Amino acid sequence: MSLRQIWNRRAFLGSAGTLAGMLVSAKKTFGWTVSQPVAGVPGNLTGFGATGNVYEELGVTTVINGQGTMTVLGGSLVRPEVEAVMALASQHFVSVAELEVAAGKRITQLLKLPEGYSAIVTSGAAAAMQSGLAGILTGDNPKFIEQLPDLTGMKSEVIIQKSHRNPFDHQLRATGVKLVVVETRDDLKKAVNPQTAMMHFTNFADAAGEIKVEEWVKLAHEYKIPAFIDAAADTPPVSHLSDYANMGYDLIAFSGGKAIRGPQCAGILLGKRDLVANALLNNSPHEDTLGRSQKVGKEEIVGMVKALESYLSEDHAALSKEWQRRLDAISAEITRVPGVSTSFFTPDVANHVPHMKISWDQKVVLTVKDAVNALRNGKPCIVLDSSETALSMNSFMLQPGEEKMIAAQLAQLFKAHSA
Ligand SMILES: *Cc1c(COP(=O)(O)O)cnc(C)c1O
Repeated sequence: MSLRQIWNRRAFLGSAGTLAGMLVSAKKTFGWTVSQPVAGVPGNLTGFGATGNVYEELGVTTVINGQGTMTVLGGSLVRPEVEAVMALASQHFVSVAELEVAAGKRITQLLKLPEGYSAIVTSGAAAAMQSGLAGILTGDNPKFIEQLPDLTGMKSEVIIQKSHRNPFDHQLRATGVKLVVVETRDDLKKAVNPQTAMMHFTNFADAAGEIKVEEWVKLAHEYKIPAFIDAAADTPPVSHLSDYANMGYDLIAFSGGKAIRGPQCAGILLGKRDLVANALLNNSPHEDTLGRSQKVGKEEIVGMVKALESYLSEDHAALSKEWQRRLDAISAEITRVPGVSTSFFTPDVANHVPHMKISWDQKVVLTVKDAVNALRNGKPCIVLDSSETALSMNSFMLQPGEEKMIAAQLAQLFKAHSA
């Protein structure tokens, strides 16, 4: 059973008693009671939320996130200034379609995209993939837009490299297309036919496929097929936000609620103006569309603009240094336990931030699985990544001081299992 399933099962099967128990001890841990005022809580808030921790009130344990921008853990923590503009946006009615176009224009300017490019805010990168492809399939034909996922009269195939298949291609399949899987340049040449609607590239899989990111778009254009790139988690570096447009990709998807720290239910679809316009026609707020279920609100649209503005003006070198410093602090503490060692790495694409691998030899008698569970069940609850043989973590989603809590918990855990 995957960790995710265990997590869900425990959530649904856990007895009320366990939840109540967790609440009590969490209160002990955090040192507050219902009657105490909590910093940051509006004074006039009564009832639900009055304690300042909506999650504890619901009996849900908050998590120290050493795993990164995982949607299952809530993605990222939204920037305060993004919250502020979302609150402003919530005070007025507007035409959402008009707002989409205007926000897209602002995003295009912020990112200095090449001539002919535009953008819309979607409910996430996954929604950007689905509506982007839907727009390619339907064009601006109202009959086709209503008809999806019935592809009668439209193209019906998307080409993807075998190593680029991943759970998010479900969003492509949801339009009704068939994925045609290729491995070599020769496979690709043979796969192209009049039914080919799009060539899809998953950027985190760049190294795994025979055809790399720049060649993929070149070949697509030789074959006169639009090229899509899923770059959801590919910031930092900031330059990626415009790199793929500059390479010539026709459509590009980014998550808004990952490292950019925009609204959790937001993403951006960048691309050639006509394709982006057709994507919007297939998306909420338009009814009788495949994308109507991927509603993005006026608040998220406005919040996404602000998040991008903030993200672009941050000192990224200083942030990266701080993320490494946190890992170094944890490493210094836990490697004092005999047998425990750490090493550092940064993934080439996607989650391109400092990571730390934590291993131990026979001087510590503990399986990785037991370590993961102990951290998850500990107080505070800590979530790290893991492989068969080691723990790993990053620190870019940690709140100030949480690295000290992780260091203390880990050191205690390893000491308790020292041979
Ligand atoms: C996170 C992710 C997505 C989905 O992004 P959302 O913004 O959560 O919809 C798609 N593709 C990849 C590679 C991702 O990492």
